[in-house]
Amino acid sequence: MPHTTKNHNTDQQVPCARCQSSDAVLVVRTENLCRECFVKYVATKILKRLEKNQIRGGFKESQKTLLLPVSFGVSSISLLHVLDQQLQNRAQQGRYAGYNLHLLFVEQSTVLEQVILESSIDLLKQRYPHTFTAISLEDYSSYGIEFEALSGSKEENFQDMVSSLPSATSRADFIEIARRRLILEFAKKRRCDGILFGDSTTRLAEKTLSETAKGRGVAVPWLTADGSSDGISCIYPMRDLLRKELTAYASITTPPLTPLVLETATQIPTSSKDTTIDGLMSQYFESVEEGHPSIVANVVRTSGRLVAPSVSEDNQSCSICGYPVFTGSWGGDQQSVISSQSTEGNGSRTGKVLCYGCTKTALKP
Ligand SMILES: [Zn+2]
Repeated sequence: MPHTTKNHNTDQQVPCARCQSSDAVLVVRTENLCRECFVKYVATKILKRLEKNQIRGGFKESQKTLLLPVSFGVSSISLLHVLDQQLQNRAQQGRYAGYNLHLLFVEQSTVLEQVILESSIDLLKQRYPHTFTAISLEDYSSYGIEFEALSGSKEENFQDMVSSLPSATSRADFIEIARRRLILEFAKKRRCDGILFGDSTTRLAEKTLSETAKGRGVAVPWLTADGSSDGISCIYPMRDLLRKELTAYASITTPPLTPLVLETATQIPTSSKDTTIDGLMSQYFESVEEGHPSIVANVVRTSGRLVAPSVSEDNQSCSICGYPVFTGSWGGDQQSVISSQSTEGNGSRTGKVLCYGCTKTALKP
């Protein structure tokens, strides 16, 4: 919880570096800020990103529907709060909003220990009365997604597929892949104009390094940069905000967002077999953002320079993660494999294409 910033030598209140009139309550990247200026700082960073992506339609255009996946983490809740306030302000001023929000919650309780209470969902709907849908990872096949390459059948219990995977890292990887594909397919099915992902700078840095370590480096531009992914516009409006800043923000707003935020303090697994690459990356960046936030921002800035390889119509896409598979040009052992687990009705081998990363995920050790 932020408190008044005091000068250590004189024990006097430090004024806000921006407005100079109120007392500073926290230090943001070396600047002492008061409550109001900090709230403004967070909102500006987000809204600037939206402007840059021209997300707000003009007067003559029809209102856009933006899908906002809510995980009850501090980032997606903060994003929702800022956008909700913008929409409310516009409505009060009688101004055209240009967009509306559709909130999506992906239920993962069958495969993850995180349990979102019914009461949190009720509170969310009450505070933010936008269209809200909850779907479960188990519903993947009704969105036209199949993981036949993994399970050998078109439709299998999601939980069984996860438990069949060889390691904690591959289970976490597969859950994340399925969640993202489900969000993309949901957005397409509901004809949304774009998806607003809540990933903070810290989360994007984690993703950059962990996807690379998991052999899916080629997908990093699609996973972290604003742009079209699988035919739908994906935007990361929180990319200039650190997770610790959002944690401070959640407790400083009125009313605070904390009752809606599911605490996901990085848990250090008791046994090394439960350690995942994603978990290690979270622990790493959690400690780095404390003392050296510029390193975190630098990882994201560097990956932001990566350009997604151009995809032509004859590029095959990976049958698990859905990202294009590039053959022949990657050298080393980065080659796609054809899984021969499945056979079609006519008895011929279909052969499912997998990318390098998914090969690692799916193969038994
Ligand atoms: Zn893949």
